[in-house]
Amino acid sequence: MPARFLRAPIAPTVSDDGLYPFVPSISLDTLWFQVAGTICNLKCTHCFISCSPSNHSHEMLTLGEVRRRLAEAIPLGVREYYFTGGEPFGNPEMLPILEETLRQGPATVLTNGMFLSPDRCRSLKRIFDASEYSLDVRVSIDGYTAEVNDAIRGAGTFEKILGGISNLAGAGLNPVVTVTEACEEAGSPAGRARFLDWMRSIGLERPRLKVLSLFRIGAEEGRLRAYESWESLRGRHLTEDESEKLQCSSCRMVTSRGVYVCPILIDEPRARMGESLAETLRPFRLEYGACFTCHEFGVTCRT
Ligand code: SF4
Ligand code: SF4
Repeated sequence: MPARFLRAPIAPTVSDDGLYPFVPSISLDTLWFQVAGTICNLKCTHCFISCSPSNHSHEMLTLGEVRRRLAEAIPLGVREYYFTGGEPFGNPEMLPILEETLRQGPATVLTNGMFLSPDRCRSLKRIFDASEYSLDVRVSIDGYTAEVNDAIRGAGTFEKILGGISNLAGAGLNPVVTVTEACEEAGSPAGRARFLDWMRSIGLERPRLKVLSLFRIGAEEGRLRAYESWESLRGRHLTEDESEKLQCSSCRMVTSRGVYVCPILIDEPRARMGESLAETLRPFRLEYGACFTCHEFGVTCRT
């Protein structure tokens, strides 16, 4: 793995107008790929980037584009790679993309589990076995009953997600199951314990669960509510420690339209920081409601 590219920490500061803090770019540990663009076979009611079969605001990335970014990442010392969308396995080049990435570092794919056929899961296991790096597959679900999950992800999705999880386990891959706080159960320690029990009951002997906070943007804005004016980092000064905890101090997101600050703000024009990775390694102004969520709840999209 390449040496970590570490800049001298930039003193926490505030924007020129004194209203919002900046997060410094401390290192580039994690590189995200919006590999399926905003195109998804589902249309979840809480999707913070409103993905759907017809949302082309960001297009899919090709193997060639990913290859070019992987080369750019080496001298910057990237340590791990994440793939999201939309639905990554809707990208016809997803397997070769993972194969290529796993020659360079560990990879994680975030999927809705719909396209995880037994064959595809066996291919993933082969790719994983051939690499010296780890491959994590993260499968999203929104409850451990069809009633709760399907209300958010769509009719019939619960059974298909279970099928995908079971195919991964059958191929020898232990998925990370992610659930958002849209599933009320997931918010409390007791609810999480029940979730873990349920995961064991479906055959995951060593259950791995990640609970994600909701971002009140995209479709979620219409499902429950948008951010209110007080949900903001306006007037706040971040300590160095607080800055380091924000994932944007050590990540960037590659999309078909350039490089964005993080995986959350790809619909915000000002969050597009440039075309090359190197030029985006500079401070970013935390002026969005989503930044408040990250800061208050310690959110990271990493596994
Ligand atoms: S939450 Fe995930 S699965 Fe659902 S629409 Fe958005 S990208 Fe697709
Ligand atoms: S949304 Fe979160 S990760 Fe993105 S820039 Fe704001 S604080 Fe950073």
